[in-house]
Amino acid sequence: RTRLPRKGLGLQVYSYDWFQTDSSVTIAIYTKQKDISLDSIIIDNQDDSFRAETIIQDYSYLIHIRLSHEVQEDVSARIVENVGKIEIVLKKKENTSWKCLGHPLENHNSFIPRKDVGLHYRECQLISKEDVTHDTKLFCLKLPPSSHLQTPVGQHVYLKLTVTGAEIVKPYTPVSDSLFSEFKEPVLPNKQYMYFLIKIYPAGLFTPELDHLQIGDFVPISSPEGNFKISKFQELEDLFLLAAGTGLTPMVTILNFALTRVRSLRKVKLMFFNKTEDDIIWRSQLEKLAFKDKRFDVEFVLSAPTSEWTGKQGHISPALLSEFLKRNLDESKVFICICGPTPFTEQGVRLLHDLNFSKDEIHSFTA
Ligand code: FAD
Ligand code: NAD
Repeated sequence: RTRLPRKGLGLQVYSYDWFQTDSSVTIAIYTKQKDISLDSIIIDNQDDSFRAETIIQDYSYLIHIRLSHEVQEDVSARIVENVGKIEIVLKKKENTSWKCLGHPLENHNSFIPRKDVGLHYRECQLISKEDVTHDTKLFCLKLPPSSHLQTPVGQHVYLKLTVTGAEIVKPYTPVSDSLFSEFKEPVLPNKQYMYFLIKIYPAGLFTPELDHLQIGDFVPISSPEGNFKISKFQELEDLFLLAAGTGLTPMVTILNFALTRVRSLRKVKLMFFNKTEDDIIWRSQLEKLAFKDKRFDVEFVLSAPTSEWTGKQGHISPALLSEFLKRNLDESKVFICICGPTPFTEQGVRLLHDLNFSKDEIHSFTA
């Protein structure tokens, strides 16, 4: 039994237990957290090591063992919500009775700060790659069946490649396969696909290498990371999204979450900054969504338009923002998310402060 070390989290007791039938083994993790969800648990079973990491705020509770017997590849997880219990089901390879679950490995049954756990990687397979714009592609990668991992809204993962003998890791933000995929919980058990919108920079270190991968190749993907908090959406009425280029990526799941899960929401507005029309990621999907859902509006701003462009032009500016950031009602609860190239984001945050938005009302995605 493990005790939470910190005050703010309370002194809940974390523990696990296991039981078996002829054909399966169930590991039950008791968190006593009512708001636990399937994105709080990351499971991997590879290289003789079974690992289940339950994430609660900045801490991880780890189950880490060498199982005593072999299991089939696929693993499933479910939440028993009202009691904060997580159940992991493993299928036995042979119908024998297990005397013990296995042998403890490093940090088994312990509660440690996330930053001390380190990022864990699993090999994911490239399933498909589709052009989205002239330089941005939608990559689909498949998690191994022995893993369970869902990236929380607004968080990112790391992809790892070996480039000329050196291991390089870069962060990327998982998206849905389109703006119209339903965001439901509990998610279907077979949620093994991860999608990424990635811009290929011809002179870049990592992305040309990623682009050279063949369908079927493997890429290690890390556990999620990030400090975005969906608690910011409580009672939210007006959501403003400021994105530049691939800075759209965190907005995809945020948009989806806001439109499907935030009851208090009245309006979501996206201002999307790009160089030219050809650079706009998912333009027609964004327009379709705005047409379909009256709560959502999108405005495109181009920094290097052709002479035919009749829409908004320029870089992020006080004039563009003060017109865009109109509250629905004087007192309405507002939240603003901003993501793009560092100078864009830094300038945007300065301008938002100048317009009297508080730190609490802004989330900036930075490196
Ligand atoms: P780099 O080698 O970093 O080069 C990038 C560009 O800068 C190239 O055009 C290169 O020619 C130019 N450049 C490099 N060095 C210099 C220099 N000294 N002077 C001038 N120009 C230079 N990207 C996505 O596409 N999708 C995502 O979902 C995504 N999510 C992210 C999430 C987070 C939290 C962060 C921090 C970044 C994210 N990024 C995302 C960006 C991504 O991590 C990489 O930075 C990006 O893919 C560039 O990688 P690269 O190694 O190919 O290019
Ligand atoms: P880009 O070069 O195509 O530029 C898009 C727009 O950004 C431009 O049209 C312009 O309006 C604005 N912009 C660019 N440089 C600017 C500057 N110096 N000052 C003010 N505005 C400027 O963008 P891109 O190549 O798609 O790059 C997207 C960036 O977003 C990358 O740097 C990437 O690392 C970052 N990103 C960060 C995250 C995160 O979570 N932190 C996620 C995704 C992308």
